[in-house]
Amino acid sequence: MTNAHHLQNNKPQDIAINDDWFDVLKISDYLFAISEPRHYEHTVVYLLLGSDRAILIDTGCGIGNLRRVVEQLTSFPITVVNTHTHLDHLGSNHQFSEIMMFDHPRSRDLSSNGASRDLLHWELHREELVIPPWPRDFHIAESALPPFKVSRWLKHDDVLEIADIRFRVLHTPGEAPDHMCLLDQTHRILFSGDILLNGPVWSHLDGGDVGELRDSYERLMRRVNEFDVVMPSHNTPCQNKDLLPLELAASNDVLSGKAQPQVGTDLWGRRYNKYDFGRISILSKYPQ
Ligand SMILES: [Zn+2]
Repeated sequence: MTNAHHLQNNKPQDIAINDDWFDVLKISDYLFAISEPRHYEHTVVYLLLGSDRAILIDTGCGIGNLRRVVEQLTSFPITVVNTHTHLDHLGSNHQFSEIMMFDHPRSRDLSSNGASRDLLHWELHREELVIPPWPRDFHIAESALPPFKVSRWLKHDDVLEIADIRFRVLHTPGEAPDHMCLLDQTHRILFSGDILLNGPVWSHLDGGDVGELRDSYERLMRRVNEFDVVMPSHNTPCQNKDLLPLELAASNDVLSGKAQPQVGTDLWGRRYNKYDFGRISILSKYPQ
């Protein structure tokens, strides 16, 4: 199996696919990043090819036809693993039949009930969040997040063997209480969801907590020798793992009062304290 040193030196390559919403970046022979560059969230989902099955990490905003894109890249059956229950990470879950999620009341609720159309529109499917046009076969009035069936509920420290790839589940709350990172121990890659990325970590959301976020970074630090690269679920894919000590130090500075915040408001009207560290930032609840 190719190891990740190869990944670090690799130049990711844009590849042409037939789609009017998603972009595809080929990171290596076995790994693709599928992104939504015209959505405000800049969501990234990853398609990882095993020997006879492919793993799809998250399913995006539910705007374009993700399944059609995946089928242009592989004919293997797909296992979806969601990093957490924010709607921009499971928008196309209903297109897939094999789904694994972290076991939490929020994920149980979403899988049984889906999300209301109003909530989905407010959070993701509205004009202000998208650079037009919408994809051809997307009709905003009909958009929905229907219930979906989960085939395996994951717990912290679970080991998954999917095809020839071995993963470890790491529960990492702080941005969302049900957030997990997926450590690919075969390729030495950490799929880091929303907690390690270029840009802000949104701990000001309902269920977010900077103290828990810091504990999650410490949990990841204990396994820092087991991976070489980080694959975030937003913004630029494929990051150096030096993001982890950077985020850990930043979260400590937020908690100790060493860092000074600026108050701001996000596009959904939620106020936050923003702690800026250049490449990264942390948003916490305002008032604290
Ligand atoms: Zn997200």
